Amino acid sequence: MIIVLFGPPGAGKGTQAKRLEERYGLKQLSTGDMLRAAVAEGSPLGREIKDIIDGGHLVSDDIIIRMIDARMDQADCQQGVIFDGFPRTVAQAEALDAMLARKNKQIASVLLINVDEQELYRRIERRAAEAAGKAREDDNAETLKKRLEIYRGQTAPVLPFYRQKELIAEIDGMAALDTVTAQIEAVLEQHQQAKKRA
Ligand code: ADP
Repeated sequence: MIIVLFGPPGAGKGTQAKRLEERYGLKQLSTGDMLRAAVAEGSPLGREIKDIIDGGHLVSDDIIIRMIDARMDQADCQQGVIFDGFPRTVAQAEALDAMLARKNKQIASVLLINVDEQELYRRIERRAAEAAGKAREDDNAETLKKRLEIYRGQTAPVLPFYRQKELIAEIDGMAALDTVTAQIEAVLEQHQQAKKRA
């Protein structure tokens, strides 16, 4: 099963992805985590992208697509994956489609986690405070503003692409964590039932 978790920064994608991993035997593929790992390693790629990430900008589609393509072929992804933070542009969504077609796979559902902006600022501030000294360099109100602008300008336009394919399920991300998980599970159960009937 291939799932896309979609929503603005701070929507709770990472938290929910971790919960779904265990429950469904899927692998979370967070492009943000993968990129931060490259930066931490100090690899040539990591050095190239550090400033881009810290400034809240997007890493090039080309880099992201190659990274995901290679990762998807590894053994731990064969049961299925949860994309978290990807695709983030229409070009990435189109490349993902072509990649999945090549691998004979398809997206089961795109879960759109809705959270209002005021709440996103509150969450990022809390996340930065809790990380005390070890906060992500892009977790501050100023960079969040930039990340939200980019979300609106470059990432939200991916939604019509999936809406047209009737893949989107809306999730109320303002609800309590367990309630959000329950909403997601309901969508995935429904999907699995429909698949069994087919
Ligand atoms: P958030 O918590 O804002 O959802 P992520 O951890 O997913 O952030 O990503 C952090 C940063 O990594 C982004 O602001 C961006 O610079 C880079 N990044 C992550 N995923 C992508 C992607 N799919 N395309 C381009 N850049 C990305």
